[in-house]
Amino acid sequence: MKRVFNFSAGPAVLPEDVLKEAAAEMLDYEGTGMSVMEMSHRSKPFEKILNDAIQDLRDLMNIPDNYKVIFVQGGASQQFAAVPMNLMKNKKADYILTGQFSTKAYQEAQLFGDIKVLASSKESKFSYIPDCSDLDVRDDADYVYICENNTIYGTKFHELPNTKGKPLVSDQSSCFLSEPIDVTKYGVIYAGVQKNVGPAGLVVLIIREDLIRDDLEFVTPTMLKWKTQVDNNSLYNTPNSYSIYICGKVFKWLKANGGLEAMKKRNQEKAAILYDYLDTTDFYICAAEKGSRSMMNVTFKTKDPELDAKFVEEAKKNNIANIKGHRSIGGMRASIYNAMPKAGVEALVAFMKKFEEENK
Ligand SMILES: *Cc1c(COP(=O)(O)O)cnc(C)c1O
Repeated sequence: MKRVFNFSAGPAVLPEDVLKEAAAEMLDYEGTGMSVMEMSHRSKPFEKILNDAIQDLRDLMNIPDNYKVIFVQGGASQQFAAVPMNLMKNKKADYILTGQFSTKAYQEAQLFGDIKVLASSKESKFSYIPDCSDLDVRDDADYVYICENNTIYGTKFHELPNTKGKPLVSDQSSCFLSEPIDVTKYGVIYAGVQKNVGPAGLVVLIIREDLIRDDLEFVTPTMLKWKTQVDNNSLYNTPNSYSIYICGKVFKWLKANGGLEAMKKRNQEKAAILYDYLDTTDFYICAAEKGSRSMMNVTFKTKDPELDAKFVEEAKKNNIANIKGHRSIGGMRASIYNAMPKAGVEALVAFMKKFEEENK
């Protein structure tokens, strides 16, 4: 068996302990004589898997009682429409554009109402997070929207925007559970789990109770109403049960490994190994501005796209997989999520140094 250091942005690396446990339980989950994949989502064992997952997530993030947790399908992209459909009362919302995913969310929201761009870093190819301390938030805006960690560009909000009292909606797909956060600062948090948590096909939503509404402004499909899944404990229809099971295992793994404080410390250490090196060389260019750098996705390139291609090819021969940058910006991207061991980042930096020596 061979395992590589997998720097994929998503679907991405998972904790080896979790994969081994799942493998051991594949044919017979806790004496049931079947795999979790083969089990009714209304059975006792699955009910426990689901409820434990929700409780463990609540414990990990210290989620207050007035926030609900639901699991839905359709990917993070489905929420680009679900957010306006569930939150619009005045049919006005204010968006901050820091990359491709917030831009897509903005375009989708335009199908439903009057959307204002409060700030954008598009003019600099999304290389930084704008100052959001005093934005012109509209008095009648229903919410303010951000993408908190920009997976493609390697930038992150290190301070949340001042929303002037409006609910903050945050797409946390690529930074979910990477560090402790104060849930009370948000109206809605959502994340596609295939980045930092589990297998693709599942989205976690954490929604403040007063934002779960029945008097929606649109003819909202039953499946897109958050209230439907809240009222049915995410079992209105068949959920992605296997992904919930693996996410539950990852939550337990996070708890057993010191929780989110410990994750933050580990993630800071890993990111520093890369950024410290990038700051000492001009062979590689790091486009993300210093004050906006992400701890989860580190983007860099050489001065020549052909050399970047060679880097990706040779990295592969050195057990460094999926290091190619997003097709829209090129270069390289190291996604160093919770499950990426420090040894993986060290191996990458050692390879980067060698490649620099041989190609400068
Ligand atoms: C990957 C990603 C998405 C899109 O997720 P899908 O599940 O493929 O729809 C949205 N937002 C962010 C921040 C992402 O990283």
